[in-house]
Amino acid sequence: SNRLEGRYAAVTGAASGNGRAIAEKLLADGATLAAIDLNADALNSVFGDRPEVLQVQANVADEDSVKAGFAQIADAFGRLDVLVNNAGIVKFGTFEELSRAEWDQVFAVNSTGPFLVSREAYGLLRAGDGDHTRAIVNITSVEAHIVISSSGHPQIHYNASKGALLQLTRALAVEAAASGIRVNAVAPGFIETPFTAEALGNEDVRNWLLERTPLGRIGKPEDVANGVAFLASDEASWVTGTTLFVDGGWTIY
Ligand code: NAD
Repeated sequence: SNRLEGRYAAVTGAASGNGRAIAEKLLADGATLAAIDLNADALNSVFGDRPEVLQVQANVADEDSVKAGFAQIADAFGRLDVLVNNAGIVKFGTFEELSRAEWDQVFAVNSTGPFLVSREAYGLLRAGDGDHTRAIVNITSVEAHIVISSSGHPQIHYNASKGALLQLTRALAVEAAASGIRVNAVAPGFIETPFTAEALGNEDVRNWLLERTPLGRIGKPEDVANGVAFLASDEASWVTGTTLFVDGGWTIY
């Protein structure tokens, strides 16, 4: 499809897993891409042979770094049509052992990061020419909605940080609507990425997941990317403030 032809897009956490698949899908749909990641080496190994991709090394949790990154994007693109807040980290730990530092770190990347990035991107999104909707897509998680504690991996800070991102999505959707900017979320279930490699390497966890998934397989980053591309396109021009679950049916089962 060429539904994003002529559109400028930025994806955070684009060097790995879901973000990489999202970046590839937006490129395949015709977008001009800024690939943002903390890890410059990883960015370069994924996009180094494609000079048309703008590589932006930035830490979404650091305000100055985000400002510098978006100054680069403003210089190169002059405007933005699609922003995907995908960068995120997961940490595990039981409630009583959870340190303030771990709590703050998870919130800094998963909740404050999308705030800082969206705020810097906002002027560029508003600069769109108005003949099409512009879109922010936030990657939340099924864990913004449900608590998966029976895997033996409690992650209350992760749950809370994704819950904050969910409500940021809904509140910003109201605020941004008058500017023609739609704001939606994709909530992935368990997806096979470096992020989940350790958990999915455990046979018991894997079998338990498959039992919990009506569609009977583990998700792929491409599943997430397809949902993002729809929400980013004009095909979703009357969709805002909502969440698309890409979870094989996990949350209804
Ligand atoms: P991943 O670890 O494979 O990739 C994350 C990427 O983000 C990496 O390239 C990393 O360098 C980058 N990153 C991390 N911190 C950053 C920061 N501060 N600034 C900029 N870039 C940073 O992870 P993934 O599984 O692809 O996860 C991507 C998103 O999908 C996350 O928001 C995660 O919460 C969400 N998610 C993943 C799953 C899953 O099962 N994999 C499920 C639900 C939600």
